[in-house]
Order: sequence, then structure tokens, then C-alpha cells
Amino acid sequence: MTRRDKNATALVRDLLAWYSAHKRPLPWRDAPAPYRVWVGEVMSQQTTLKVAVPRFEIFVARLPDAAALAACPEDVLRRLWAGLGYYARARNLQKGARYVTDDLAGALPGTCAGWLDVPGCGPYTAAMVASMCFGERVPAVDGNVVRVASRLLGMAEGVWTKDGQARIREFAAERVRLSDAPGDFNQALMELGATVCRKARPACGSCPIASACRAREDGAADRIPQPRPRKAGVDTRVVCVVLLARGRVALARRERGFLSGTVGFPVVTEGSREARDLLDILGRIPGARIRAAQGAFRHTITHHRIHGSILVALLPARGSPRVVEAELGRALGVSDFSWSNRAGVRDALGAALDRKALDLLEAP
Ligand code: SF4
Repeated sequence: MTRRDKNATALVRDLLAWYSAHKRPLPWRDAPAPYRVWVGEVMSQQTTLKVAVPRFEIFVARLPDAAALAACPEDVLRRLWAGLGYYARARNLQKGARYVTDDLAGALPGTCAGWLDVPGCGPYTAAMVASMCFGERVPAVDGNVVRVASRLLGMAEGVWTKDGQARIREFAAERVRLSDAPGDFNQALMELGATVCRKARPACGSCPIASACRAREDGAADRIPQPRPRKAGVDTRVVCVVLLARGRVALARRERGFLSGTVGFPVVTEGSREARDLLDILGRIPGARIRAAQGAFRHTITHHRIHGSILVALLPARGSPRVVEAELGRALGVSDFSWSNRAGVRDALGAALDRKALDLLEAP
């Protein structure tokens, strides 16, 4: 055994011993089952464990397996996910569950490669499920692991480059291969990052692998890793379409774009083909009146800086909104129209952007 192997083996041993004594109890951790680990890991990627754990218990009590998740009505899923961050993650979980029920006859995959085929399941989650449930020696690399590994390696720069990420992955892969408990090893590295090797003020004095840490030796722990370069902001101009008919407001499910899966006003990008189709459709409705609302609003989603305006279309009382719905649905990529009375609109809106649009519309 080389010196390097000996050091790596010692690190794995020390880390596992620390984990065994310090791990936080998680409902998907003991006697891990693939469905529970899958749901638990996705849930905890976005929110604190304090919030995720009780919500996890409610979620799996109501949806105990992939078949139940696949069949869950949207309003129920939304309620179960409320407060857990981006709903897109819940939708992806359900997409994955439907793949399992439809394409795998209900049988969850038994390997990391199999989990990577599940829609919405990324490399971290796939590796966590495979290592925890099947003992597969695959590294699970999340933000915590990047931080711990980059400090252990003393990577003063280049952490976020392709090569830097490959180096970190290889570091984790080499060590998980040495472990007889790969699921515990992956969790231990993640847990160390979350509780000891914290972003600010890492507790190096309590670290079980401090003797192997280059950043600590160099006195550089709090400078590694360097902040991740921000994605350049993108300015996007959108138009929220407020359709009014018989005193009611049309809301619909957006099927594409950054609001995909949420319910609210149809939204089009200014100057796009969809925007032109919208005006064309509304222009062909006899008696329809269209006006642009005064003012504009701003909203940010990830790196999108959104500048929003509002188009109000008053549809005639005669004629069926269904015809409009079908045409607009096809042209704008929206579905499931519902017509809400004015008082109930705000509660039915599914995105902060819609609420800003409504604030603008209701402004005196
Ligand atoms: S010694 Fe400090 S910086 Fe190094 S891994 Fe441990 S906690 Fe992190």
C-alpha cells in the first residue's frame, strides 16, 4: 500500500468514526429505503433539515411509494410541498415516479446508473440512493462535499472550473472506493461540511480529519473555496396577460419557460412570436378591448432580471371563453384555464411575479 493510500484509508476511517458518533438523526437515514432516500435527499437540498424532516414524515405518510406519488393530484402535491422551496422539484419527483410506474413497472432502479435514468434525478441524489441503499461505491458530491474536499486539497483557486470539479470528484471517488460503508462515507463527508467544515468559520479544532487538511495547514480554510462565479444576469422583458370576461380573471397553468408548472397569468416574452400570436388571437375576437396597463414591475428569478408589463384584454360577455382558451393555450403554452372572481385572484396566484403584476394592476 502506498503512503497516499495509507493516508486516504486513515481519512476514511477517522471520518466514519466521527460520523458514527455525531450523525444527526434523519428519518431516511436509518434502514434506508430507496424511495425514502430519494424523497428525503431532494427535499433537504433546498431547505434546512429542521423544516424538511417534519415535512418529510407528512409527505411519505400521504405518499408512501412511487405509485402513490405518481398518481397524486397536483393540488395535493402542492400542499405537501408548500414551504419546501421551488415547486419544480416536486414536479420533477413526480415525473420520476411516473417514469418508475410507467417504464419500470413500478420497480425502483437498483443501481446508480439506473437512478440517473430517472427524470429529474441528478448525480448527487442517484449516488446517495445507490451508496446508502445498495452499497455502491459511488461518490455523492454536493456543495458541502465541494467545500470539504477543496479545503482538504488546499485548492486556493480553480475549484469551480471543469478541471477543479473533476479533481474534487476524483478525490471523493478514490476515498469512497476504500470504504466498506460507502453510504455512510458519502453522508459523513456531507455532514462534516454541514456541521463542522462550515462555509464561515470552519470549526477546525473539532475536525476529525484536520491532520489531513492542506487549507488548515496553510491557514487558508476561510478563503477556500473562492466564491462561485455568478452567472451573468440576463434581462428579460415579459408581458403578463390579464384576460377579463364577465367580471372574472383568467388564470392558467404555464407549461414552459421559467414559470413552468405554476398557475397565474399567461406570460409572453416581449417581441416574441408568442406575443404576436397573442395579439393576433385577441384581435380576431369581435368586441374584445385591449389596453396596456400603466407602469411596469421588476422581478428576479435566478439570473433572470425580469422587466414586466401588463396587457389587459376585456373579452365580450357573449361568446364562449373556451374558444379563446383553446387558441391561447396552443399559442402560449398554457393549459387548465380557470376563471377566478376578482376577490379570489391573489390567493390563486402561484408565483411572486404574478403577485407583483397584480400589485401594479391594483395600484391607485
Ligand atoms: S480542518 Fe477545518 S478546513 Fe480542514 S476539513 Fe476540517 S474543518 Fe474543514
